[in-house]
Amino acid sequence: MSDWVESLRTAGRIARRVREEAYRVVRPGAPMLEVAERLESMILDEGARPAFPCNISVDEVAAHFSPMPGDPRVIPPNSLVKVDVGVSVDGYIADTAVTIVLNPRLGALAEAAEAALREVVRKVRHGATIQELGYVAQRVIEGMGLKPIRNLTGHEIARYNLHAGLSIPSVAVAQPGRLQSGHIYAIEPFVTTRVGAGEVVSGREATIFRVDAGRILSMRLGAEERELAKMLAERFDSLPYSPRWIPGYERLSKTHERMVRRGRIHGYPVLVERRGEPVAQAEHTVLVTEDGCEVIT
Ligand code: MN
Ligand code: MN
Repeated sequence: MSDWVESLRTAGRIARRVREEAYRVVRPGAPMLEVAERLESMILDEGARPAFPCNISVDEVAAHFSPMPGDPRVIPPNSLVKVDVGVSVDGYIADTAVTIVLNPRLGALAEAAEAALREVVRKVRHGATIQELGYVAQRVIEGMGLKPIRNLTGHEIARYNLHAGLSIPSVAVAQPGRLQSGHIYAIEPFVTTRVGAGEVVSGREATIFRVDAGRILSMRLGAEERELAKMLAERFDSLPYSPRWIPGYERLSKTHERMVRRGRIHGYPVLVERRGEPVAQAEHTVLVTEDGCEVIT
């Protein structure tokens, strides 16, 4: 196997370990900041890099929450906690997520997400259609009396590019596209209750950000903004980051907030179930082969 496959496998091995650690550190009352920092530091200690800030999304928040610097929030009791991590080794990214059930009454949601993921992965092979994969996920989830989230999808992964090309919905949609051998995909069904809208909308808060490294320095910026822009482009290139990763953020927070408001920095809003129903997620990264796939994570 070529070197890049070995890099991807290394990323997968680290992502697996981080995912297992999440089950140990996600406890009611645990500060989210400590959980995120613990999981990200495991990635760094292995000589790899987080491909994006560790997401810790609780209950109706489906995705894109990562604690902010000094964030006082803790893991609430009786909650459903999605932990989503990405590990990059030489730009090859393993993306994986689990749902940790702290409320036994919501356990079925996590089981449905896992079952849908398992069944879709069984169908993954060269030439599998996006439509049939969506059909399988929807059938499994609805068969358990629950609802898939239709506007959150799996995705193709390319080097240094988490969302490349094809998206892979968890509902049967008339969307063209087939999986290709030698390509990398993340499969990630999201599940909500039967009374949920089956759809996420943008919340008010953004905790994960990105700059366009090629453009930001050509913008008209004040001295403070330019200093921050330079640092962001150098440190993160065009990849998503958490303000936790910015040294001396307290001093720069006002400038950062202003640049977000003016659209110089892109903020990813948290994604929330439209009717406020709880959401579960399960995710693996797979490498497609002629007759199946290798589960990387
Ligand atoms: Mn993910
Ligand atoms: Mn993903």
